[in-house]
Parts: sequence; structure tokens; C-alpha cells
Amino acid sequence: MAVPFRRTSKQRKRKRRTHFKLEVPGLVRCPECGELKLSHRVCPSCGTYKGVQVIKK
Ligand SMILES: [Zn+2]
Repeated sequence: MAVPFRRTSKQRKRKRRTHFKLEVPGLVRCPECGELKLSHRVCPSCGTYKGVQVIKK
């Protein structure tokens, strides 16, 4: 296995990690019930997706 030639400096390590951040998930309002839900997911409160009842209550 290849071994690093030089130790990664604190600055280099920290600069690399500036790209590691938490992202806010894509929240949208459900067109059926108006609840906040994740986009491209079935609404957990009314069970619809693209206006179709997917989960029956
Ligand atoms: Zn809904």
C-alpha cells in the first residue's frame, strides 16, 4: 500500500475540511396538506406523492 510522503499539515487538513459541512435537507410544502416534507418523498402526514394517494390511512 502507498504511504504518504509528507505529513498533512494542520493548515492543509483544516482547509480540506472547510468543505465538510452539514446541508439543510430539501424541505418543501406538501401541495396536498401544506405540511413541510422532504422533496421527492411521499408526504408523511397525508401519504400522497404527485397528487396520488400512495399510502392509505
Ligand atoms: Zn401532505
